[in-house]
Amino acid sequence: MDWKLFIPGPTDVSLDVYEAMSKPMIGHRGKDFSVLFEETVDKLKKLMFTEERVYISTSSSTGLMEAAVRNCVKNKCLNVGNGAFSCKWHEITKANGKEADMLSLTWGDAPTAELIDEALSKDNYDALTLVHNETSTGVTAPLKEIAKVVRDHDVSFLVDTVSSMGGIKVDVDRWNIDVCLFGVQKAMALPPGLACCSVSEEALEKSRNVEDRGYYFDFQVFEKYYKKNQTPTTAAIPLLRGLDYQLDKILNREGLENRFRRHEEMGELTRRWARDRGFELLPEDRYASNTVSCVENTLKVDCEALQRDLYERGYVFSNGYGKMKNNHFRIAHMGDRKPEELKEYLETINELTGL
Ligand SMILES: *Cc1c(COP(=O)(O)O)cnc(C)c1O
Repeated sequence: MDWKLFIPGPTDVSLDVYEAMSKPMIGHRGKDFSVLFEETVDKLKKLMFTEERVYISTSSSTGLMEAAVRNCVKNKCLNVGNGAFSCKWHEITKANGKEADMLSLTWGDAPTAELIDEALSKDNYDALTLVHNETSTGVTAPLKEIAKVVRDHDVSFLVDTVSSMGGIKVDVDRWNIDVCLFGVQKAMALPPGLACCSVSEEALEKSRNVEDRGYYFDFQVFEKYYKKNQTPTTAAIPLLRGLDYQLDKILNREGLENRFRRHEEMGELTRRWARDRGFELLPEDRYASNTVSCVENTLKVDCEALQRDLYERGYVFSNGYGKMKNNHFRIAHMGDRKPEELKEYLETINELTGL
């Protein structure tokens, strides 16, 4: 049986993407690889609205969260924590031996430009981490406004766009993002295993003088191979083929603007569905994510039973993340998901719960 995943990653992968991945293997130091790499990077730059270098890492996104702090925190880092993944970035920063403070916000709240401006003024920070789209709470940070205030502080701006890239616009260069990272298994709708990040000239220069960068995630090592259109170590070559193919589809077949609009439509559809049934959404409306909705289970639906019943119907349901497991559930609407499929899913929930 085929299941449709309505969990916030990994997401369903289209058959033609799997086909694109199943071409014969090539060596990672040969010409064919370099051509594939260069073409993929060019497309990634369009996706990310950047002219900066984009590295491709054979790891999950967490690897690049580690890379970002490892290469760009010299003195002290400010981690903005408003959900599970942003709080994890604080944990990662400290685990890498870096000094760090966390601007702790209530889960479900959005970090605002004012709060970040104020927090950055309090100490001698040289780096700031931010999660653009908090997958645990369905909150999208007002990145454009935040970027405006970050500009006035001398910090490396490190942004996790894991569950927004490919679904919500991220204007990397205009927003002066130094490291913008994401994995391919969420709104990009590829199988897990690759992560990508743009790295600004300033961030690359800075990393040169940051000690203890390790090897696997050292930007200096990445750069050395990037110049040759290669990756430092053996890349997940089938995934790279899939990424190249999927980027073609996103940029040329669907079109970026259409893709963003489709995600907006699915976000609105889900929020309307939730409100019409009498649920509340966790985030304030203006910060509600267009790739994942976090619904407060105000109607006390038996989520365990619902999960089981949906599974029987061929759907994978997502409850709340971690500590929000019991009183929230999430509906992912990202990747290649079609609004019609989402409607069917919501209608199935209505039917199963009698809502
Ligand atoms: C899924 C997710 C991660 C972790 O990604 P992995 O690929 O599992 O390492 C980090 N940040 C956000 C916002 C996510 O949604």
